[in-house]
Order: sequence, then structure tokens, then C-alpha cells
Amino acid sequence: MFLKGKSAIVTGSTSGIGLSYAKALAAEGAAVMINGFGDAQAIETERAALEATAGAKALYDPADMSKPDQIAAMVARAEKELGSVDIVISNAGIQHVAPIDEFPIEKWDAIIAINLSSTFHLMRAAIPGMKARKWGRIITTASAHSLVASPNKSAYVTAKHGIAGLTKTAALEVATHGITVNCISPGYVWTPLVENQIPDTMKTRGLTREQVINDVLLDAQPTKQFVQPEQVAALALFLCRDEAAQITGANYSMDGGWTAA
Ligand code: NAD
Repeated sequence: MFLKGKSAIVTGSTSGIGLSYAKALAAEGAAVMINGFGDAQAIETERAALEATAGAKALYDPADMSKPDQIAAMVARAEKELGSVDIVISNAGIQHVAPIDEFPIEKWDAIIAINLSSTFHLMRAAIPGMKARKWGRIITTASAHSLVASPNKSAYVTAKHGIAGLTKTAALEVATHGITVNCISPGYVWTPLVENQIPDTMKTRGLTREQVINDVLLDAQPTKQFVQPEQVAALALFLCRDEAAQITGANYSMDGGWTAA
């Protein structure tokens, strides 16, 4: 339990990769604030389970990651109710699949706000407390799409490239304050985000569901396997260790070899 006494915020942690991050942090004793949307009863069940695992407080905050004031209020609440914010994992994300000339403008705005701008607002709110305590771990969730593009994902690819640049910039700014800032770039992980984009990919590419899974998603990854959310969380946990104190400004690929190809 190397995170006993530390507190963390994980955005977008009501499902998928974010929930795995929260579980991994709690398993090491961290107090965790989870965030995201979903069924209230299911969220409460997860929150209670995290609290039991960690033996430390777990809170749920419903802040909308497209709203800067709600992000700042969430960080302030965590500082107050958990005592500190030592670890921040920016993870909330959405996706939309359409060609640029048909891309709904409101979808563009939402993807940039929720995936990219929220990461900036989260850092902006959390860094002062980390500087005061001279210790912090900021982890951003980008994607293989922070390094390569795919057709019909303009907003997502732009947001993820932006997160990679923001991560490097932040790492340089806080390097002398005991704070590291790193990015994790997963390949395809079987979560609602990936499953929900299958119908649009079928439409834009004229493929069946099976073909999208095998010839688009799995074909991108030389291992021909999905990445597991627990594998992503294990890397985040390592970045929180004192042994990782000299790792900063890095962008870790965990994509079954996708971006090596
Ligand atoms: P998911 O759909 O399972 O989880 C997304 C989370 O974000 C949910 O908790 C959801 O409630 C939350 N969320 C959505 N909009 C929000 C908002 N406005 N405010 C607060 N929370 C909001 O998806 P996932 O695959 O676990 O994605 C998590 C992150 O991982 C995303 O940033 C995604 O881009 C990234 N990622 C996913 C994959 C993949 O293949 N699944 C690959 C690379 C990167």
C-alpha cells in the first residue's frame, strides 16, 4: 500500500479505463475522488467498494469536464474533503466518427473541451497544491491517436495530439517542484467508448461489425489483441512510485505495437 496517505482524482472514472485507474490507486491505499456520468446506484456501489479497498475515503464528484468552473470546484472539494490532491489522472473522454466535411460542429467543440481543455483546467487547479506540498503526479490519458491519425476522427486525433503537447509543457513547468507529468497512450481497449463508435465506423467505411472489430480495430495492433484496462492502470501506478521520479514529460505507448508499425 505505497499510496497510503495520498489522495487522487481520476476524471471519467465511472467506467472503462478510468474505473481501472481508480481501483488500482485504491488497492494501494489512496483516497480517491471518482468522476463521470452513469447510473447513480452503480456509481455509489463503486465508490463504496473503493473506500473498502483503500481503507481511506472515496468520493464521487459529478463535475462536467466541459465546464472549467466545475473542474476547479471539484479540485477544491477534493483538497478540502480528502486533505490534498497528490495525484491527478485526466482521463474523461468522448469520441465521434465522421468525415471533416460532415463533422457536427457541436461534436468538435465537445470533444476538444472534454478530452483536451479539461486536462488543462485540471492541471491549472491542481498544480498550486502540489507545488505547496512539493510532490505530485499528473497523468494524462492520450491515445495512439496522439501519435498517428485515423480517418474520420479529426477532433479526437487533434485533442489527443494536444494532450501530448500539453503534457510535455506542463512537465517542464513543474519539474523542479517534485511533480512529474506523463502521458499514457493506449491502443484499442474494449470499453463503451470503443464499442459505441462501431456503428459509425460501419457506416463511414461500409463494413460489417465483425469487419470493424477484426480488420480495423484489432488489425491496427500487431499483437491482434485488445489492451486491457488493468494493464493501463498498472502503468499509471508505476508512474506514481518514487522510483519513477525522474520520468517526466514522457508519452508511453501501450498499443500492442500499433505505433511501431
Ligand atoms: P469510457 O466511455 O468507458 O469512459 C469514459 C468516461 O468519461 C466515463 O466515466 C464517462 O462518464 C466520462 N465522461 C464522458 N464525458 C464526460 C464529461 N463531460 N464530464 C465528466 N466525465 C465524462 O471510455 P474509455 O475507453 O475508458 O476512455 C477513457 C479515456 O481513455 C478517454 O480519454 C479515451 O479517449 C482514452 N482512450 C481510450 C481508448 C480505448 O480504446 N478505449 C484508447 C485510447 C485512449
